[in-house]
Amino acid sequence: MSNNIPYKIYLTEDELPRAWYNLRADMKNKPAPLLNPGTHQPMKAEELAPVFCEELIKQELDNDTPYFEIPEEVFNFYKMYRPSPLVRAYYLEKALDTPAHIYYKFEGNNTSGSHKLNSAIAQAYYAKKQGLKGVTTETGAGQWGTALSMACAYFDLDCKVYMVKVSYEQKPFRREVMRTYGASVTPSPSTSTQIGKKILEAHPGTTGSLGCAISEAVEVATSTPGYRYVLGSVLNQVLLHQSIIGLETEAALKKYDIKPDIIIGCAGGGSNLGGLIAPFMRDKIKGELDCRIIAVEPASCPSLTRGTYAYDFCDTGMVCPLAKMYTLGSNFIPSPNHAGGLRYHGMSSVLSQLRADGLLEATSAIQTDVFAAAEMFARVEGTLPAPESSHAIKAAVDEAIKCRETGEAKNIVFGLTGTGYFDMVAYQAYNDGAMSDYIPTDDEIKASVATLPKID
Ligand SMILES: *Cc1c(COP(=O)(O)O)cnc(C)c1O
Repeated sequence: MSNNIPYKIYLTEDELPRAWYNLRADMKNKPAPLLNPGTHQPMKAEELAPVFCEELIKQELDNDTPYFEIPEEVFNFYKMYRPSPLVRAYYLEKALDTPAHIYYKFEGNNTSGSHKLNSAIAQAYYAKKQGLKGVTTETGAGQWGTALSMACAYFDLDCKVYMVKVSYEQKPFRREVMRTYGASVTPSPSTSTQIGKKILEAHPGTTGSLGCAISEAVEVATSTPGYRYVLGSVLNQVLLHQSIIGLETEAALKKYDIKPDIIIGCAGGGSNLGGLIAPFMRDKIKGELDCRIIAVEPASCPSLTRGTYAYDFCDTGMVCPLAKMYTLGSNFIPSPNHAGGLRYHGMSSVLSQLRADGLLEATSAIQTDVFAAAEMFARVEGTLPAPESSHAIKAAVDEAIKCRETGEAKNIVFGLTGTGYFDMVAYQAYNDGAMSDYIPTDDEIKASVATLPKID
């Protein structure tokens, strides 16, 4: 192996980050504020208080404080599964015959199987500290629900999960993991909420979407005393917690004096990517790092590449605050793509602003190409990747192949957000040649975007 860089770069316990980093503090153009859906005025903390935990609201609204200390209890939990390894993909490089140096930060080494646990444990901690009885949430592919169930079990909180129906049916084992950790799981849309009933009337037979499930979970949180709603992606607070990924990556690369040339991550709501890139984007903004940063999304749900940058509802039921983001419209229900975690109609306002400012590139991939990259990766690197993560693999492979053509030894870093153990129905469809590539037409996107709220 070359350059004396080990296959896995770990950090010692002393080298672990003790604070999360808030990229907003260093952004010249701050992300646009959340708006009250009734008055169209910026949401105040007291308006958010019936929905979210107090401490998390402070983090959500804070565009100025660069570092937030990681509470001792959260740090202790992190130590059970962190640091996650930064892996030098020697075997992938060899298979691609590329001069590029490829690294991936692997977040799948915990029972929930993804990076989502990084924020779940923080959110459960703040809910417990506030003296709440429980939390409600939605889950798409099931990773967030699983992570939150684990976090709630640790802090002895009740956890009610609304799971997008297509995943509930495709992924019965995810559901059972959640129940094993003590959560209750309801397929969404359900008839247990007002909004669920309304959505079912309007779209009979719908397989659901994250937007629907969010509306149901918010309704239950705001109508049940001692409960608040928590969200696993999109929000500023989630990107803040996920900065642990980027801070560890930065520390690991520094150990070997490696400067990334290209950083790649998959983007659903934007939390893993926002977390991975945080310290590097800071340096890029300050002119201290010359680096391309690329978001990869599914061609079936292309918010950053084909969406509109505008205020929109975060949920289908239009009960949540308005966020300014690249969006396909809150009525957009993507085709049943197998990367359930990337089926959200919008994108984090932080990433959206960075995209609008030209600091973040975006690309999309069709799912059969993504699975081809996933299988190649599994065979050479050993790890079975989640379909979501495989979007990043696909883009990293494409960049590494370009390096083969130009002869450049670029440092490519990508986020491998999770494992694919619970995605075997998807792999089966791919292996059987039964996977299709649905790409929405311009007219479909136009129709959906036409329903955006008018903000003056
Ligand atoms: C949820 C999830 C994603 C996408 O969510 P982001 O908030 O965009 O990071 C990506 N990969 C995995 C494995 C996930 O579980």
